[in-house]
Amino acid sequence: MKGQYSKPIPEVQPWSEAFWKASKKHELLIQKCSSCQSLIFYPRKSCPNCWSSELGWQKACGRGKVYTFTVVRDMVEAKFIADLPYVLAMVELDESIRMMTRIVECDPQTVRIGMEVEVVFEDITDHHALPLFRPVEESLRLPAREGDPTGKDSEPALFMSAEEYKTILYETGGPNGAVCRITMNRPEKKNSINRRMALELHDAFRRVREDRNVGIVVLSGAGEGTFCSGGDLDVFPSLAEHQAGLNWLAHEGLDVQKAITDCEKVVIAKIDGHCLAGGLELALCCDLLYAKESARMGLTEINMGVLPGWGGTARIVRSMPVFRAREIIYSGRKDYTAREMFEMGFLTRVFKDEEFEAQFEKVVALLALKKPVALRMGKEIMAKSADGGSIDTALAVERNGIQWLTHAPDVQAMMEQFRKNVKG
Ligand SMILES: [Zn+2]
Repeated sequence: MKGQYSKPIPEVQPWSEAFWKASKKHELLIQKCSSCQSLIFYPRKSCPNCWSSELGWQKACGRGKVYTFTVVRDMVEAKFIADLPYVLAMVELDESIRMMTRIVECDPQTVRIGMEVEVVFEDITDHHALPLFRPVEESLRLPAREGDPTGKDSEPALFMSAEEYKTILYETGGPNGAVCRITMNRPEKKNSINRRMALELHDAFRRVREDRNVGIVVLSGAGEGTFCSGGDLDVFPSLAEHQAGLNWLAHEGLDVQKAITDCEKVVIAKIDGHCLAGGLELALCCDLLYAKESARMGLTEINMGVLPGWGGTARIVRSMPVFRAREIIYSGRKDYTAREMFEMGFLTRVFKDEEFEAQFEKVVALLALKKPVALRMGKEIMAKSADGGSIDTALAVERNGIQWLTHAPDVQAMMEQFRKNVKG
């Protein structure tokens, strides 16, 4: 037990008292009907099978399998935010009864249906302990973290230090440190992406997630005239080897894409020059795309007999009208002008070359003033809706998100001020 426990505490009823007392002694009890021998969970006054009130207790073996689970990443009551992400699960005990619980002491990513788990207890007060479950398989376990004996990712994810970056630049600034700028920095190679840059971009976009002050990330290319020219041609020979090719697509590539799309910050691509092939695929992962009029764009992979494999072929049809997207994929043109791309429905806006810098910074300055968590929720709600799932699901996410935002004390104050200004 570490400090004051602020989350809800179980309400102990007369018929569940034995269960909670045993829990406190780190024993898992289940009820057993003396008439029909049914095993019962959760604790009740009478048997749900035969209605007998002659119920006794037996000690459970404390082992079972994950029956189903979900990883909770967001949209929780404020007191649970520090626990995110956590795994809410239904565990089926070897006694064939199911318990709602959490899976702890492991990376949420490793939890699987059917995974063998065993009970552990989290002491939350002098009188209460919660039965939770951890993997039986020791290699899946992480050490319990301080302040939460139930095991979480105690150490923050391992990042490189920003000084170690060799192929990108990483800086934060702006009002309250709300703006992070990630710059692809291999101008001599037209900012082409090699394995090192993929790794560093992945690292940088994960790092920025941890920075609460940052609301927006600007992704750009160093030097004149290139955002990013795509994959480094020097990587290509190694791709003939099956495993290396797969790693380039599924690890370096997919990891970078996901780091950007899952980044929870609004990511703005600043396209002030060539944005081709893998570079355009990176842009496709961003939330807003602003381009200089002289920028040239395209997906050129088909000219080598392949296709965009960093999400480009799959993503582009979700990002613009499909009949136009197909032309970009099939033609392999690398000379689409920014205006053409805009007219085809690809870009957010195009600015004249001489105005680009000022206009772009105007957008950055405007968004930098918005509450980061509101930007983040907006991103999530719109992503959920654009996913093509049911509108009801998207609406539920919207409702929960906005309800959650509304409860923040500073938002209450902002709303009040807004109300006064409108009235006044
Ligand atoms: Zn019964």
